[in-house]
Parts: sequence; C-alpha cells; structure tokens
Amino acid sequence: MANTFIYLQAAPVNIIVGSHVWVEDPTLAWINGEVFKISGEEVHVHTTNGKTAVANISKVFPKDTEAPPGGVDDMTKLSYLHEPGVLHNLAMRYELNEIYTYTGNILIAINPFQRLPHLYDTHMMEQYKGAGFGELSPHVFAVADVAYKAMMNEGKSNAILVSGESGAGKTETTKMLMRYLAYLGGRSGVEGRTVEQQVLESNPVLEAFGNAKTVRNNNSSRFGKFVEIQFDKNGRISGAAVRTYLLERSRVCQISDPERNYHCFYLLCAAPPEVREKFKLRDPTSFHYLNQSRSYALDGVDDTQEYLATIRAMDIVGISEEEQASVPLEAIFRVVASILHLGNIEFAKGADVDSSEVKDEKSRFHLNTTAELLKCDVKSLENALIKRVMVTPEEIITRTLDPVAAVGSRDALAKTIYSRLFDWLVDKINFSIGQDPNSKQLIGVLDIYGFESFKFNSFEQFCINFTNEKLQQHFNQHVFKMEQEEYTKEEINWSYIEFVDNQDVLDLIEKKPGGIIALLDEACMFPKSTHETFAQKLFQTFKNNKRFIKPKLSRTNFTISHYAGEVTYLADLFLDKNKDYVVAEHQDLLTASKCSFVANLFPPPAEESSKSSKFSSIGSRFKLQLQSLMETLNSTEPHYIRCVKPNNLLKPAIFENANIIQQLRCGGVLEAIRISCAGYPTRRTFYEFIHRFGVLAPEILEGNHDDKVACQMILDKMGLKGYQIGKTKVFLRAGQMAELDARRAEVL
Ligand code: ADP
Ligand code: MG
Repeated sequence: MANTFIYLQAAPVNIIVGSHVWVEDPTLAWINGEVFKISGEEVHVHTTNGKTAVANISKVFPKDTEAPPGGVDDMTKLSYLHEPGVLHNLAMRYELNEIYTYTGNILIAINPFQRLPHLYDTHMMEQYKGAGFGELSPHVFAVADVAYKAMMNEGKSNAILVSGESGAGKTETTKMLMRYLAYLGGRSGVEGRTVEQQVLESNPVLEAFGNAKTVRNNNSSRFGKFVEIQFDKNGRISGAAVRTYLLERSRVCQISDPERNYHCFYLLCAAPPEVREKFKLRDPTSFHYLNQSRSYALDGVDDTQEYLATIRAMDIVGISEEEQASVPLEAIFRVVASILHLGNIEFAKGADVDSSEVKDEKSRFHLNTTAELLKCDVKSLENALIKRVMVTPEEIITRTLDPVAAVGSRDALAKTIYSRLFDWLVDKINFSIGQDPNSKQLIGVLDIYGFESFKFNSFEQFCINFTNEKLQQHFNQHVFKMEQEEYTKEEINWSYIEFVDNQDVLDLIEKKPGGIIALLDEACMFPKSTHETFAQKLFQTFKNNKRFIKPKLSRTNFTISHYAGEVTYLADLFLDKNKDYVVAEHQDLLTASKCSFVANLFPPPAEESSKSSKFSSIGSRFKLQLQSLMETLNSTEPHYIRCVKPNNLLKPAIFENANIIQQLRCGGVLEAIRISCAGYPTRRTFYEFIHRFGVLAPEILEGNHDDKVACQMILDKMGLKGYQIGKTKVFLRAGQMAELDARRAEVL
C-alpha cells in the first residue's frame, strides 16, 4: 500500500470519443476534460484548462456528469468511486464551507482555517442531539452523538480517534467533541467547578504549557493526548482522566525562526507588572531560550489576555492564587520564570583545563535569580552546572566540565524541570477532576500527532511514526478484519479484498528482543556505543528485512518503509534522546529545594537506583504507554475522524489536490472506501430489517414466514439486486439502504 498508487476502481473500458473524464495532471493531480481521440491504448483529452493531455486508458477515469453540484455527504454514495471522484467531491463541498464528509463511518474533516461560529453553536448541538446518524449533515457532533448513544444503549465504552498531520485540526476537533459530550452529559443550570467544566478547562491549561507556534501550526500541540471521559449509569459525566504522551522537551532550550517556545513563557513575560517584577522578568527578547527565534508575538493573540485566561482556567482545574490552595499558582510560574533565567547563564573557560566558570556579572545575576526562584542553594546550583561527581567503589572523583558541556548540563536541567512541571500539571488536573471508580462506561478521545516525514527525521519522528503504525494497525483491524470476519461468520460470499498488514513494520520497531527499540536500549547501556556502532548493528540485523533499507550514501542513516511511505532517520541523536535519566547532581539540588513544590517535583529516587546511573529509556517507556493505550482502545468501540490540512499556507479557501490525496492515503481513507464499497456497507438483523421495512410489504408480514424468508421476499418485491442474506443479517450494497428508506418514506 505504501508507494503503490491506489486506483479505487479499475478503469472501465467504455470510454469513447466525447466522454467526460479525469486524467492525471502534474500540478493539479487530476483534471477533467473531454476525450477527442483514442488511438490504441492512448486517450487524448481536451482538458478544462485549455490544454491537451494524453494518457493510457487504464489511467483515465469517467467523470460523473450527473453528480449533484454540491457533492454528496457520504463518499460511499458516489456513483463512480475513484480517486479523482473522491477528491472532486471534497473540493466541491469545501468550496461551500461544507468541511465535513463521511466515508461510511469515518468522518473526514477539512480544516476551514476560518471561524465558522454557526457550525458549533448551542443551536447546532440541540439539533444533533435529537437526530439520528446521517439525518443531518456530517459533523463532529454527530460522531460524538453516535458514541454517546452507543455507550448508553450497549453499556460499552467508545473511543473517538482523531488523526491527521500537524495543523490539520485535530485539537480543535477534540475540543468540539468534548464540548458536545459535556453538553450531553452535563448538568444544566449547575454553576461553578463542575466536572464537565473542569474537563473543558483542562484544554487551555494544557495548551499554555504544551503548545507552541511551529511552521505548520501557530498553536501546535507538542504532546499526544488521550482524554477519558467517564459517565455514570444515567449518562452524566462523573469523572475524567487525561493521559499525555511524549512532550517535546528539546523545544524548551532550542527553537529556530519562525517558531516559538511554549506559550507559557511568553504569556508570563506579558503578565501584570507586579508579577513580572516578582520574577525579575523582562521582555521575551532578553531571554536566550526565547530570542533564538525572532518570532515573539502571535497574530491575533494578546499574551496579557492569554495570561489572565490561563489563570482563570487554572483556577477551575484547582490551581489557584488563594493562600490556602495546596499548590499556589505562584510556585508554578516561579518555576517557569526560573527556566528563563537559567537559560541566560553563560559560561567561560575556567582556570583549569576543561573547566568552566560563570561568564560575567550578567550571568551571575541570572544564576542568583534562578537559585532564588527555585529556592535552592546558589553555590550548589553553580556546582551542579559545571561539575560532575563520579562515585567509584574506591573513591569519589570530581570532574569539571568545559563551557560546552556546562551549557549541555544547563539545558538538560531546564528540560528536566519543564517536563516534570508538565507531568505535574497533568496529574494535578486528573486529581482535581477526579476519577469515578464506579463508572463502567467511558468515551475516550484521542488527539495524537499524525505521520511525519521531513527532510531530517530524528528520534521524535521515529516515535511519532511508531505511534501511527500502531494506530494504523488498529484501524486496519477494525475496518478490514472486522468486515471480513463478519462476512465469514455470516457465511456470505465475498471476494476478499487484500490489504497489506503492517505487523512486519511493528515487529521491526518493537519486537523484543531484536527490534530497533531493543537494540537502541542495548546501545544506550553499553558505554562505548556511538551512533555509528548503533547504526552498524541495525544494518547487520536487518539486512534482509524488506521494511528496512540502508541508504546508499550514508553510514549512519536508516530508512523504514512505513505504511504511509519511506522515512529516512538520522541516527545521530538517537542514543542521547533515548536516555532518560536525571543527572544525580541536578536531582540532589532540587530535592533539597526549600520550596516544597519544587522539591516534590524531584522526589528522591528509590534506594537501589540512586547514584548508580540506572538506565531508563524513553523509547521503551513510550512503547509501554502505547501498549496500554492500545489495550484501552481495543476494549472500546472505535470511531474515526480524519483531519485534513487543505494547504500549507494555513489560509481559508485554498484546496491543494496533491497534498490532500497524500493525506487521504496516509490516513487509510482511500483504502477504507474501497473496502467498504466493494463489500456490503449496510447490514441489519432480520428482525431490524423487518421492523423497519415491513411496511413496504404488509402482505408478506401477514404470511407468517420465517424471518429470513420474509426479508428475502421484501427485497425481491423491491427489485433490489446484489444484496446478500447471511445467517442472521441482511447485507446491503452501498446506496441500497437509502433506496429502501426513500420507498418507505413514500408509504408512511
Ligand atoms: P492540529 O491539532 O491537528 O495540529 P489544530 O487543531 O491546532 O491542529 O488546528 C490548527 C488551526 O487550524 C487552529 O488553530 C485553527 O486556527 C484552525 N482550525 C482547525 N480546525 C478548525 C475549525 N473546525 N474551525 C475553525 N478553525 C479551525
Ligand atoms: Mg494539536
């Protein structure tokens, strides 16, 4: 599936001179036109942009000239189902601001890049609450509604999986889903810190600390998130839990133009004067962690307002300014400010070889301020930055660090503090909202980074793409296997459509022992390893793996053939980025802080692991997190929303065909359409079918037939063809249900 072009339907042979068709186009991906000549297999077309195109007949597709001008709201209703048809349908709808389209049960959402307030107002929520699935236009509310009703009717947990590339609209979609669920499961008229309010307000808090401006999205989430909303037996929200995945740590110390660091740094610098004074803050331009990029302000965002909004949201999730609050807000922002000061400490060469000292008065001021804010000893802070203590069985050796290593030590400390703070916030939110131990049913909403492939890909992309392989497998299993299993169980004829499973890629990555993550951990534990020895080991081990490729011109890069395409990873920083251990000096320094909040972020490590640099791996920990996520998802009824980013300019009304096709392919949408339409997308038990369509043939109902026979008779009477009758259910082809419903409406 990876690099092969998917044609959803074999090109029909009945193309003649005068036919309206789609042909490939280098810039538009597909263009339509009229056939004016056919010679052998070559079809010549006058295209609508005034040019001519020649294509092999196998790559020419008929255009549906009867298609409704506004498109169809479910792709499975298209009369000609092929890639250009799918794309054209989405394009027509997008032009009318119809950003949602179904593909069977999958919702495709194309980012409008403009506010469409009417689309999400209370009136809209009211309408979707009363309607059955498919009665109204496709919408995120409809998906949330189906999940909620399924949960209430079947007592089973549901999950909504939102995916797409950065900037495609996942987080916005997630927020809409949560709003609608809070609307369904909230208590009307109850004010204040209700569970549902806290669930909603957790979003701005997490965004302030975990989102940043990137090239792809001005408000990009730099972590994955799974929100579990728990309901009681009356369908009221009774608790919630937020799980987060892999916050991007490097951003704290390193950014490049035109990106930004995490929002919280800027909004704190824009806080009211008394707050800024307390933390000795100045303009963002004066801090190294922020001024590596010239991007400070965000279009249309006032950081002072954001500061106030964040404080309000924090108050609702239980973090407040009140003196008696268990954790004063002040401590959190004090830690944020300390990181900015920490980043401004520079080092110069010290008196001894390979040693360093705090560079100048300015750096010393920031050193002092950092110590003050973290409430730790300034001399210990200085030592923790420029020295390392090595404990051997014989002696204790103190080693000095050169200026470059000291900067590395400083940045490591900043990243550790920030990620601990983020994890603390997540825990705090979970604690405040509270879990409902009696809840038997929940709706999970997953908002996680989509497949990434850049010019340079590192460990982060490796983890992200690993996640997507996992989710793709889940999707495959659900859409494809479930479909096939159902047909097999019902003993109906079905020519099995082949789909490529990605278990082999998952084995390559996560198999234990022997997979890439396991080999990486081994390399990290062996002191002499370098990225070169690690890469060599990979090349040796996976020489004959068809999902693994050694690029010709590199000794350390490696390529994985993912379900969505090939990605080449730079092995350079894999070892460093996989090591998750806090330098003992940093640990000791912060454990000893006089501020209990700071000290609690750094609980002393368990006895046996202290001092010995016990290795903990980010890759392995992430793998476990994913495993547990998959277990949760496997126990739920899934619903999929695929977000699509229509252009890279982040502007409304621009629909880039080639870009969008690529996303539909990566998200498995094209494959799912093919499967769904090739089979029998609609199925009803005999009872359900008779209950619904008995009115079409009252005489048959009176005939006292066996249910199965009765169904057959009704279908025959209606003149339908191509359907199948299984052991317990009727299986209808795409569009047949709609036809029956229309007949039924005539009778009723
Ligand atoms: P992702 O989480 O996929 O990276 P976001 O959800 O943050 O993307 O969306 C990126 C931006 O696109 C948002 O900040 C917003 O400006 C715009 N956007 C996304 N979805 C919508 C929507 N449904 N309506 C209006 N604007 C949207
Ligand atoms: Mg996001």
